[in-house]
Amino acid sequence: MTNALIIGGGIAGAVTAMALQKAGIDAEVFEAYETGADDVGAFLVVFANGMAALRVIGAHGPVVANSFPAERVEFYSGTGKRLGERPLARSADATDVGPRTLTRATLYRVLHDEARRRGIAVRHGKRLVAAETVSDRRVVASFGDGSHAEGDLLIGADGIHSVVRKLIDPAAPRPRYTGQNTVCGYTRDVKPPSAPDTYTMIYGRRAFFGATAAPDGEVWWFANVPGPERSRQDLAAVTADQWRHRVVALLDGDRTPAADVVRATGEHIVASHAYDLAATPRWFSDTMVIIGDAAHAAAPNAAQGASMAIEDAVVLAKCLRDRPEPRRAFGAYEELRRARVERVVAQSALMARRSAPGTLRRLVRDVMLPRSVERGGGGADAWLTDYRVEW
Ligand SMILES: Cc1cc2nc3c(=O)[nH]c(=O)nc-3n(C[C@H](O)[C@H](O)[C@H](O)COP(=O)(O)OP(=O)(O)OC[C@H]3O[C@@H](n4cnc5c(N)ncnc54)[C@H](O)[C@@H]3O)c2cc1C
Repeated sequence: MTNALIIGGGIAGAVTAMALQKAGIDAEVFEAYETGADDVGAFLVVFANGMAALRVIGAHGPVVANSFPAERVEFYSGTGKRLGERPLARSADATDVGPRTLTRATLYRVLHDEARRRGIAVRHGKRLVAAETVSDRRVVASFGDGSHAEGDLLIGADGIHSVVRKLIDPAAPRPRYTGQNTVCGYTRDVKPPSAPDTYTMIYGRRAFFGATAAPDGEVWWFANVPGPERSRQDLAAVTADQWRHRVVALLDGDRTPAADVVRATGEHIVASHAYDLAATPRWFSDTMVIIGDAAHAAAPNAAQGASMAIEDAVVLAKCLRDRPEPRRAFGAYEELRRARVERVVAQSALMARRSAPGTLRRLVRDVMLPRSVERGGGGADAWLTDYRVEW
């Protein structure tokens, strides 16, 4: 039986392991962190396309059970002007699961629990430092703790700062810092700005803000805040108090509830850098391949990174099922995925530019967005969310 080494126990890693099992391929997951992953404080949406890919491997149930629906989005200008509303749950198939909101930590936990329940080994504390193809087309992975693992192929699901990407192509481009921090917070001490299952998106004069409410009334919010790229340590050293002050300072003066939501938030504030990675020239070698954020990463604006990682995982497993020679399977996977994921990265970058502050942008947006929403634009597109992986 083919044996796959999966590097990274994030979203792509856990889903790939389950999809490979369905394809009759044995897999082990190696995760750098002792528990979960870093930056688990943010929340995200898994759209209908991501949920449908999870459904292919029968893993959608636990995600649904630990999340809440994201049915629609309302847009406001920083002046308080309502720009429109549109549904997020766009799907031609009534049996589909619509978009779901949950924290990244919950998504990791649920997918890991489900993988373990299926008998898949997830090894923590295993940070890949090197890998090489040995003579008989086997691959040996070396970890920071001095241990090794050998398999027929290695799948780099090791995220935006992927080591596997560099092993496949030492000249691979670095992720681009978009110049934005995404700050997320959670508070029960304020009235939710929107109805349940609804996202309120505000094009503030100095920062873009979004919020939704969990079923228990807790408000989950994020703000895209311009700032310099810092080291991991420097970013972690910024306190909740400092982020609150920074975000409130940017939102104060807008005629919206955003600043009050942030002001009402206590310690539960986290921030991360927003990166993207438009085109990675080489996705695979004879024995190694990259998926998810390791291969392509979109700025968070389109909110499709997790869904793309899930789709990648299922498509790759299907290609490996149908083509026993890894290199051919990797080529087929790239052919099926590259155009779609690069389009998502481009779309997300465009959304990031459109949501950036600026008087001219605001004037154009206040006129154009209501028209675009009327025509069905202003959010997720059918080409994105109607996509289905055929198993
Ligand atoms: C603030 C924010 C909001 C977002 N919102 C959304 C959203 O609403 N919807 C959406 O779909 N996406 C969203 N995303 C993007 C989404 O989180 C990513 O696209 C997704 O997590 C990618 O999954 P992945 O498995 O490829 O990478 P990751 O989830 O980053 O997982 C990579 C894993 O590999 C491990 N790892 C790294 N290096 C090594 C190594 N050398 N050895 C072993 N293990 C290693 C890491 O610890 C981690 O567990 C958001 C991202 C951010 C930052």
